[in-house]
Amino acid sequence: MKKAWLWIGLGIFALSGSVGAGLQWWSPEENKNDDAGVTIPILMYHHIGNLTVLEQNTRKADWSVTEENFNEQCELLVENGYTPVSMEQIHEALESGEGLPGKPVCITFDDGWREQYEIGLPILEKHGLTATFFVYPGPICESEDEKSGYMCWPQLHKLVDGGHDIQSHSWSHPHLAKIPAELARVEMESSRRALEEQLGITVSSIAYPFGDHNEQIQRMAESAGYTTAVSCYAGVTQSEKTRMHLRRITVRYADTPQDFLRKLEIGR
Ligand SMILES: [Zn+2]
Repeated sequence: MKKAWLWIGLGIFALSGSVGAGLQWWSPEENKNDDAGVTIPILMYHHIGNLTVLEQNTRKADWSVTEENFNEQCELLVENGYTPVSMEQIHEALESGEGLPGKPVCITFDDGWREQYEIGLPILEKHGLTATFFVYPGPICESEDEKSGYMCWPQLHKLVDGGHDIQSHSWSHPHLAKIPAELARVEMESSRRALEEQLGITVSSIAYPFGDHNEQIQRMAESAGYTTAVSCYAGVTQSEKTRMHLRRITVRYADTPQDFLRKLEIGR
């Protein structure tokens, strides 16, 4: 019943969010906060699959990688000594200044697309890597048999069992800074609660849909129980001051291995 209520309350936003997911992009502004911090590359992935030549010239190339490139990027992480860390490890390290491996990396996937499970997970497992999946409960289906572009709850359970991290991406993927504040609060709180109840995990981090946020949204995210949040700002330098808008690396379709290694170092 709780879920049904949420759907009524958020229906219109759910619709706009689902349609917009993957089709729009919040312009990645430069983060003006250049405080000294620690280097923690947080990689941002969305789709894994091939694009047509036409699509390769659209913004879709900003959030897609081929299966081959993703596999190669995982290989590069292992060969270059990177160790995957969770958002909670990042939070603890930003607070205490310690606890991270020599070369940390956080591999993140947004939106909960099913190919992340079907294509991405076997590649991660092959390389012994773990990742963080920022998902929004709105479109998550009950069973693998349901035709859906999104993962289902049993698949998310399997990710948790495999040592991967599930975190929040709001309830229905709206532009949080553009909807009424009260709805933004419900979006963030209901997502965290639903993921925790369904999966028996602690959810402490949120990826703002489209990277859309402002200082009010950051404060509301903290009140909603999140201790870190990730943005679409480019960079690898993270600090306690920026823990509610951590920088991420956009891995693009056309990125070469050299591009990928450079981005791990400097974020772009
Ligand atoms: Zn998203």
